[in-house]
Amino acid sequence: MALSEDIKKKLQFLSTVYQQLQDVKNAPTLLDYKYNIAAVLFNEGTQVVISAARNDLPESFNGVFPPTEEIGDSGTTIHAEILCLDGAKALVEGASIMVTDPLCPNCMKSVIAAGVKKIYITEDGFTQGNWYNSADENGVERQRYFDDVSLKLAAYAGVQVCKIGGKGGEDVSCDIIQPQEKPPMSKARVEEYDAGTLSAMVCNAQDRGRPYAVAIANGPKQRRYIVMASESYVPGMSDEKAQNIREHFKDVPGGLRYRLKVDALSSILSACAYFGFSLSGEQVYISEIPTSRCIVNAIGAGVKHFGLAHKEALSQKSKYALDAFYKLETHGIVKASVINDIPAFLEN
Ligand SMILES: [Zn+2]
Repeated sequence: MALSEDIKKKLQFLSTVYQQLQDVKNAPTLLDYKYNIAAVLFNEGTQVVISAARNDLPESFNGVFPPTEEIGDSGTTIHAEILCLDGAKALVEGASIMVTDPLCPNCMKSVIAAGVKKIYITEDGFTQGNWYNSADENGVERQRYFDDVSLKLAAYAGVQVCKIGGKGGEDVSCDIIQPQEKPPMSKARVEEYDAGTLSAMVCNAQDRGRPYAVAIANGPKQRRYIVMASESYVPGMSDEKAQNIREHFKDVPGGLRYRLKVDALSSILSACAYFGFSLSGEQVYISEIPTSRCIVNAIGAGVKHFGLAHKEALSQKSKYALDAFYKLETHGIVKASVINDIPAFLEN
Protein backbone atom coordinates (compact mmCIF):
# COMPACT_ATOMS: atom_id res chain seq x y z
CA MET A 1 0.00 0.00 0.00
CA ALA A 2 1.37 3.41 -0.93
CA LEU A 3 1.78 5.88 1.88
CA SER A 4 -0.35 8.98 1.64
CA GLU A 5 1.47 12.23 0.83
CA ASP A 6 0.70 13.51 4.32
CA ILE A 7 2.31 10.57 6.06
CA LYS A 8 5.30 10.70 3.73
CA LYS A 9 5.82 14.38 4.53
CA LYS A 10 5.50 13.67 8.22
CA LEU A 11 8.08 10.86 8.12
CA GLN A 12 10.43 13.04 6.10
CA PHE A 13 10.18 15.79 8.68
CA LEU A 14 10.80 13.32 11.52
CA SER A 15 13.92 12.10 9.78
CA THR A 16 15.27 15.67 9.43
CA VAL A 17 14.65 16.15 13.17
CA TYR A 18 16.40 12.82 13.82
CA GLN A 19 19.40 14.00 11.80
CA GLN A 20 19.49 17.32 13.65
CA LEU A 21 19.40 15.42 16.94
CA GLN A 22 22.51 13.42 15.95
CA ASP A 23 24.26 16.62 14.81
CA VAL A 24 23.54 18.37 18.11
CA LYS A 25 24.71 15.33 20.06
CA ASN A 26 27.99 15.13 18.15
CA ALA A 27 28.80 18.83 17.79
CA PRO A 28 32.10 19.80 19.45
CA THR A 29 31.88 21.98 22.59
CA LEU A 30 34.27 23.49 25.09
CA LEU A 31 33.42 20.91 27.69
CA ASP A 32 34.40 17.33 27.43
CA TYR A 33 31.46 15.38 28.80
CA LYS A 34 31.76 11.67 29.21
CA TYR A 35 28.33 11.31 27.70
CA ASN A 36 26.26 13.65 25.54
CA ILE A 37 22.49 13.81 25.56
CA ALA A 38 20.67 15.90 22.97
CA ALA A 39 17.07 16.97 22.49
CA VAL A 40 15.09 18.72 19.75
CA LEU A 41 11.73 20.36 20.44
CA PHE A 42 9.44 20.71 17.44
CA ASN A 43 5.92 21.15 16.19
CA GLU A 44 4.80 18.23 14.06
CA GLY A 45 1.72 20.01 12.75
CA THR A 46 3.55 23.03 11.35
CA GLN A 47 6.83 21.10 10.82
CA VAL A 48 8.85 23.74 12.61
CA VAL A 49 11.80 23.10 14.93
CA ILE A 50 11.31 25.19 18.09
CA SER A 51 14.69 24.63 19.76
CA ALA A 52 17.54 22.14 20.09
CA ALA A 53 20.07 21.61 22.87
CA ARG A 54 22.61 19.32 24.43
CA ASN A 55 23.21 18.79 28.14
CA ASP A 56 25.44 21.66 29.21
CA LEU A 57 26.59 23.98 31.98
CA PRO A 58 24.74 27.28 32.39
CA GLU A 59 26.76 29.99 30.65
CA SER A 60 27.55 31.74 33.93
CA PHE A 61 29.25 28.56 35.27
CA ASN A 62 31.70 28.49 32.38
CA GLY A 63 35.24 28.90 33.65
CA VAL A 64 33.94 29.19 37.24
CA PHE A 65 33.00 25.61 38.09
CA PRO A 66 34.31 22.38 36.59
CA PRO A 67 31.52 20.10 35.30
CA THR A 68 32.10 17.81 38.30
CA GLU A 69 31.39 20.54 40.89
CA GLU A 70 28.49 19.96 43.29
CA ILE A 71 26.05 22.85 43.72
CA GLY A 72 24.30 21.92 46.97
CA ASP A 73 23.18 18.39 46.13
CA SER A 74 22.83 19.06 42.41
CA GLY A 75 25.28 18.64 39.55
CA THR A 76 26.21 21.65 37.44
CA THR A 77 24.87 20.27 34.17
CA ILE A 78 21.42 21.17 32.90
CA HIS A 79 19.71 18.36 31.03
CA ALA A 80 19.10 18.81 27.29
CA GLU A 81 15.30 18.63 27.65
CA ILE A 82 15.27 21.55 30.12
CA LEU A 83 17.58 23.63 27.89
CA CYS A 84 15.18 23.03 24.99
CA LEU A 85 12.30 24.40 27.06
CA ASP A 86 14.43 27.40 28.09
CA GLY A 87 15.33 28.07 24.47
CA ALA A 88 11.75 27.86 23.21
CA LYS A 89 10.64 31.17 21.76
CA ALA A 90 7.31 29.76 20.59
CA LEU A 91 4.36 28.07 22.23
CA VAL A 92 5.33 24.58 23.43
CA GLU A 93 1.74 23.50 24.15
CA GLY A 94 1.00 20.50 21.92
CA ALA A 95 4.63 20.21 20.71
CA SER A 96 6.80 17.08 20.40
CA ILE A 97 10.30 16.45 21.68
CA MET A 98 12.92 14.01 20.37
CA VAL A 99 15.63 12.92 22.81
CA THR A 100 18.68 10.68 22.42
CA ASP A 101 18.03 8.98 25.78
CA PRO A 102 15.12 7.93 27.99
CA LEU A 103 14.02 10.88 30.15
CA CYS A 104 14.78 11.13 33.86
CA PRO A 105 11.71 11.79 36.05
CA ASN A 106 12.61 15.48 36.58
CA CYS A 107 12.77 16.18 32.85
CA MET A 108 9.62 14.15 32.26
CA LYS A 109 7.72 16.31 34.78
CA SER A 110 9.02 19.51 33.19
CA VAL A 111 8.19 18.55 29.60
CA ILE A 112 4.70 17.41 30.60
CA ALA A 113 4.12 20.64 32.54
CA ALA A 114 5.27 22.56 29.44
CA GLY A 115 2.49 20.94 27.39
CA VAL A 116 4.57 18.51 25.29
CA LYS A 117 2.21 15.88 23.84
CA LYS A 118 4.56 13.43 22.16
CA ILE A 119 8.04 12.18 23.04
CA TYR A 120 10.37 10.33 20.66
CA ILE A 121 13.35 8.54 22.18
CA THR A 122 16.07 7.04 20.00
CA GLU A 123 16.44 3.27 20.03
CA ASP A 124 20.16 3.67 20.88
CA GLY A 125 19.29 5.39 24.13
CA PHE A 126 17.68 2.16 25.33
CA THR A 127 20.25 -0.28 24.01
CA GLN A 128 23.50 1.65 24.55
CA GLY A 129 22.51 4.77 26.49
CA ASN A 130 24.75 5.59 29.42
CA TRP A 131 21.89 6.85 31.59
CA TYR A 132 19.42 4.03 30.96
CA ASN A 133 22.02 1.31 31.35
CA SER A 134 23.70 2.52 34.53
CA ALA A 135 22.91 2.68 38.24
CA ASP A 136 22.83 5.74 40.51
CA GLU A 137 24.92 6.37 43.65
CA ASN A 138 22.51 4.21 45.66
CA GLY A 139 22.88 1.28 43.30
CA VAL A 140 19.39 1.69 41.81
CA GLU A 141 19.32 0.87 38.10
CA ARG A 142 18.22 4.04 36.34
CA GLN A 143 16.14 1.97 33.95
CA ARG A 144 13.69 1.65 36.85
CA TYR A 145 13.36 5.43 37.11
CA PHE A 146 12.33 5.54 33.47
CA ASP A 147 10.11 2.45 33.43
CA ASP A 148 8.41 2.91 36.79
CA VAL A 149 8.34 6.70 37.11
CA SER A 150 8.87 8.64 33.85
CA LEU A 151 6.73 6.36 31.67
CA LYS A 152 3.92 6.28 34.23
CA LEU A 153 3.89 10.08 34.49
CA ALA A 154 3.61 10.28 30.69
CA ALA A 155 0.81 7.72 30.51
CA TYR A 156 -1.27 9.42 33.22
CA ALA A 157 -0.79 12.81 31.55
CA GLY A 158 -1.88 11.53 28.13
CA VAL A 159 1.57 11.99 26.59
CA GLN A 160 2.56 9.54 23.86
CA VAL A 161 6.04 7.97 24.02
CA CYS A 162 7.63 6.52 20.87
CA LYS A 163 10.90 4.82 19.99
CA ILE A 164 12.65 6.06 16.87
CA GLY A 165 15.49 4.27 15.12
CA GLY A 166 16.79 2.87 11.88
CA LYS A 167 19.44 4.53 9.75
CA GLY A 168 17.59 7.80 9.30
CA GLY A 169 14.83 7.67 11.88
CA GLU A 170 12.45 5.70 9.64
CA ASP A 171 11.49 3.12 12.28
CA VAL A 172 8.94 4.58 14.66
CA SER A 173 6.93 2.60 17.19
CA CYS A 174 4.54 4.30 19.57
CA ASP A 175 3.19 1.36 21.54
CA ILE A 176 5.44 1.60 24.62
CA ILE A 177 2.53 2.90 26.68
CA GLN A 178 -1.17 3.50 26.13
CA PRO A 179 -1.62 7.08 27.27
CA GLN A 180 -4.91 8.29 28.64
CA GLU A 181 -6.52 10.80 26.32
CA LYS A 182 -6.39 14.26 27.84
CA PRO A 183 -5.83 17.74 26.47
CA PRO A 184 -2.52 19.31 27.52
CA MET A 185 -2.94 21.93 30.21
CA SER A 186 -0.82 24.14 32.41
CA LYS A 187 -1.40 24.25 36.14
CA ALA A 188 0.21 27.67 36.51
CA ARG A 189 -1.89 30.83 36.93
CA VAL A 190 -1.25 33.34 34.19
CA GLU A 191 -2.69 36.86 34.11
CA GLU A 192 -1.86 39.85 32.00
CA TYR A 193 0.45 42.10 34.02
CA ASP A 194 -0.92 45.03 35.93
CA ALA A 195 0.39 46.28 39.30
CA GLY A 196 -3.00 45.84 41.00
CA THR A 197 -3.44 42.29 39.70
CA LEU A 198 0.07 41.35 40.86
CA SER A 199 -0.55 42.70 44.39
CA ALA A 200 -3.89 40.91 44.58
CA MET A 201 -2.39 37.60 43.38
CA VAL A 202 0.47 37.84 45.88
CA CYS A 203 -1.97 38.63 48.74
CA ASN A 204 -4.15 35.69 47.75
CA ALA A 205 -1.22 33.30 47.55
CA GLN A 206 0.02 34.41 50.97
CA ASP A 207 -3.44 33.92 52.48
CA ARG A 208 -3.65 30.41 51.08
CA GLY A 209 -0.33 29.61 52.73
CA ARG A 210 0.81 27.07 50.13
CA PRO A 211 4.38 27.44 48.85
CA TYR A 212 4.37 29.32 45.57
CA ALA A 213 6.62 31.02 43.03
CA VAL A 214 5.90 34.10 40.95
CA ALA A 215 7.64 35.97 38.13
CA ILE A 216 6.87 38.46 35.38
CA ALA A 217 7.26 37.22 31.81
CA ASN A 218 7.17 38.68 28.32
CA GLY A 219 4.64 37.18 25.96
CA PRO A 220 3.76 37.67 22.30
CA LYS A 221 2.84 41.17 21.05
CA GLN A 222 5.02 42.78 23.75
CA ARG A 223 2.53 41.92 26.45
CA ARG A 224 3.73 41.23 29.98
CA TYR A 225 2.27 38.49 32.12
CA ILE A 226 2.29 37.42 35.74
CA VAL A 227 3.11 33.71 36.03
CA MET A 228 2.38 32.13 39.40
CA ALA A 229 2.41 28.49 40.47
CA SER A 230 2.27 26.31 43.54
CA GLU A 231 3.87 22.93 43.95
CA SER A 232 1.59 20.45 42.17
CA TYR A 233 1.41 17.17 40.32
CA VAL A 234 1.56 17.12 36.53
CA PRO A 235 -1.88 16.56 34.93
CA GLY A 236 -3.28 13.08 35.50
CA MET A 237 -1.35 12.42 38.73
CA SER A 238 -2.86 12.02 42.19
CA ASP A 239 -1.74 11.08 45.71
CA GLU A 240 -2.96 7.55 45.05
CA LYS A 241 -0.98 7.17 41.83
CA ALA A 242 2.06 8.70 43.53
CA GLN A 243 1.73 6.09 46.27
CA ASN A 244 1.59 3.33 43.64
CA ILE A 245 4.76 4.63 42.01
CA ARG A 246 6.55 4.82 45.37
CA GLU A 247 5.57 1.19 46.08
CA HIS A 248 7.91 0.14 43.26
CA PHE A 249 10.83 1.52 45.27
CA LYS A 250 10.02 -0.13 48.60
CA ASP A 251 13.24 -2.13 48.37
CA VAL A 252 15.38 1.02 48.07
CA PRO A 253 16.65 2.44 51.38
CA GLY A 254 15.00 5.85 51.74
CA GLY A 255 12.57 5.02 48.92
CA LEU A 256 12.21 6.83 45.60
CA ARG A 257 14.74 9.67 45.44
CA TYR A 258 12.75 11.76 42.95
CA ARG A 259 9.95 14.08 43.99
CA LEU A 260 6.72 13.32 42.18
CA LYS A 261 5.32 16.83 42.38
CA VAL A 262 6.65 19.67 40.28
CA ASP A 263 7.94 22.33 42.64
CA ALA A 264 6.65 25.87 42.26
CA LEU A 265 9.79 27.28 40.62
CA SER A 266 10.04 24.51 37.97
CA SER A 267 6.35 24.94 37.38
CA ILE A 268 6.66 28.61 36.39
CA LEU A 269 9.61 27.81 34.11
CA SER A 270 7.57 25.09 32.38
CA ALA A 271 4.58 27.45 32.17
CA CYS A 272 6.75 30.02 30.37
CA ALA A 273 7.59 27.38 27.74
CA TYR A 274 3.97 26.24 27.56
CA PHE A 275 2.77 29.74 26.67
CA GLY A 276 5.84 30.78 24.66
CA PHE A 277 6.87 33.38 27.28
CA SER A 278 10.33 34.36 28.49
CA LEU A 279 11.12 35.78 31.92
CA SER A 280 11.11 39.56 31.64
CA GLY A 281 13.65 40.19 34.39
CA GLU A 282 16.34 38.28 36.20
CA GLN A 283 14.30 37.86 39.36
CA VAL A 284 11.82 35.28 40.64
CA TYR A 285 10.16 35.11 44.01
CA ILE A 286 9.78 31.75 45.75
CA SER A 287 8.05 31.50 49.10
CA GLU A 288 9.91 28.31 49.96
CA ILE A 289 13.56 27.45 49.41
CA PRO A 290 13.71 25.35 46.21
CA THR A 291 15.89 22.28 45.61
CA SER A 292 19.47 22.75 44.39
CA ARG A 293 18.49 21.14 41.06
CA CYS A 294 15.76 23.73 40.65
CA ILE A 295 18.15 26.57 41.39
CA VAL A 296 20.59 25.33 38.73
CA ASN A 297 17.77 24.91 36.19
CA ALA A 298 16.46 28.41 36.95
CA ILE A 299 19.94 29.87 36.39
CA GLY A 300 19.89 28.16 32.99
CA ALA A 301 16.62 29.98 32.30
CA GLY A 302 18.25 33.34 33.07
CA VAL A 303 17.37 33.85 36.75
CA LYS A 304 20.02 35.81 38.66
CA HIS A 305 18.13 37.07 41.68
CA PHE A 306 16.05 34.80 43.91
CA GLY A 307 13.62 36.47 46.31
CA LEU A 308 12.90 34.32 49.36
CA ALA A 309 10.52 34.53 52.32
CA HIS A 310 13.30 33.46 54.69
CA LYS A 311 16.72 31.90 54.68
CA GLU A 312 16.25 29.17 57.25
CA ALA A 313 16.92 25.57 56.37
CA LEU A 314 13.79 23.63 57.31
CA SER A 315 14.96 20.32 55.86
CA GLN A 316 18.07 18.58 54.62
CA LYS A 317 17.00 19.58 51.08
CA SER A 318 16.79 23.26 51.95
CA LYS A 319 20.11 23.03 53.78
CA TYR A 320 21.70 21.83 50.53
CA ALA A 321 19.92 24.61 48.65
CA LEU A 322 21.23 27.27 51.05
CA ASP A 323 24.74 25.84 50.59
CA ALA A 324 24.14 26.14 46.84
CA PHE A 325 23.04 29.78 47.18
CA TYR A 326 26.07 30.53 49.34
CA LYS A 327 28.46 29.04 46.78
CA LEU A 328 26.74 30.77 43.86
CA GLU A 329 26.64 34.14 45.64
CA THR A 330 30.32 33.84 46.57
CA HIS A 331 31.12 33.43 42.86
CA GLY A 332 28.88 36.36 41.90
CA ILE A 333 26.54 34.16 39.86
CA VAL A 334 23.28 34.85 41.71
CA LYS A 335 21.83 36.84 44.58
CA ALA A 336 19.40 35.42 47.12
CA SER A 337 17.58 37.99 49.27
CA VAL A 338 14.84 37.89 51.86
CA ILE A 339 12.03 39.93 50.29
CA ASN A 340 9.02 41.50 51.98
CA ASP A 341 7.61 43.68 49.20
CA ILE A 342 7.22 41.08 46.47
CA PRO A 343 5.61 43.29 43.77
CA ALA A 344 8.36 45.91 44.18
CA PHE A 345 11.02 43.19 43.90
CA LEU A 346 9.50 41.74 40.71
CA GLU A 347 8.73 45.08 39.07
CA ASN A 348 12.26 46.34 39.57
ZN1 LIG B 1 16.73 14.76 32.77
